[in-house]
Amino acid sequence: MTPLERALRERIAAEGPISVETYMEACNAYYYATRDPLGARGDFTTAPEISQMFGELVGAALADCWRRAGSPTDAIYAELGPGRGTLAADALRMLRAAGFAGQMHLVETSPVLRETQRKAIGDAVWHDRIDDLPAAPLLLVANEFLDALPIRQHVGAVERRVLVAGGGLAFDRDGEIVESSPAREEAIAVIALCLAQRGGAALLIDYGHAKSAPGDTLQAMRGHAFAPLLADPGEQDLTSHVDFEAIGRAAADAGASVTPVMSQGDWLLRLGIEARAQALSRANPDRVDEIGQALDRLTARDQMGELFKVMAVHAPDWPAPAGLAE
Ligand code: SAH
Repeated sequence: MTPLERALRERIAAEGPISVETYMEACNAYYYATRDPLGARGDFTTAPEISQMFGELVGAALADCWRRAGSPTDAIYAELGPGRGTLAADALRMLRAAGFAGQMHLVETSPVLRETQRKAIGDAVWHDRIDDLPAAPLLLVANEFLDALPIRQHVGAVERRVLVAGGGLAFDRDGEIVESSPAREEAIAVIALCLAQRGGAALLIDYGHAKSAPGDTLQAMRGHAFAPLLADPGEQDLTSHVDFEAIGRAAADAGASVTPVMSQGDWLLRLGIEARAQALSRANPDRVDEIGQALDRLTARDQMGELFKVMAVHAPDWPAPAGLAE
């Protein structure tokens, strides 16, 4: 039994069944605090780990947006859940080349990943919470961050819970599930308020759906494969599909402008990922195959291209980031 499962069973014995939200929050807090989950030997891979092209195009889109907003010198780069710091490093090269000299602010709770990020990017300011970001114009990116924040599941009017049954953890009920995530909406509301008051733009990239719909999307990943949700709590990555309609509404309610949702593949193609791949291939003739495969993984509809979505939230007096305007 994992150490977290022992703790959860004690809690359930003392307090009764816990909500899916409490379970997911406890599992991910433990999971991320105790390891670097990314890469071939980890549990999953993300777009910036597949190719430098991803972070470079994110950086180019933010740099272009910043320039069109008049290149404010008090703007900062901010990232939520930066993983290994790869996206930040790739994006920052593009931002620096465009003359952006602002600070880097990273929201990251995991001490293990903070250390990895420090090695990848050096100088940055770390925060535990989004609320701790300074009140400055933000050039913000969150890639596969929202999917790790906890969700609630309801079956009818009743919140779904986890209990101990038959010697293991089990759900208290099945049926048609409706998911919601106050944690995600709260995170986006904080960002949107800062954008509306101080300026800036945020790119939110994650797997999910453009329109709210019922359905059970909670999943566990371990060693690059799906795993049973209640097995080995704290030893596998728990995520769920992001409801972009819900977070878009939260951002608009907080006073920010929200772009339409676009698939990651379409967005990267609009930003010129094919030309970037050709240039990289010319400069690295020994890596032509690898670059072509990365392009395919990031954009093809049967890979990350369609399931992953991009949406921007920005200050009403800032332009929408490239490729996402109405
Ligand atoms: N953005 C990275 C990593 C995605 S994994 C990439 O694309 O490769 C999720 C990241 O979010 C990890 O860095 C994890 O430690 C962080 N994270 C998860 N829950 C968090 C929370 N509640 N607060 C801050 N960071 C969190």
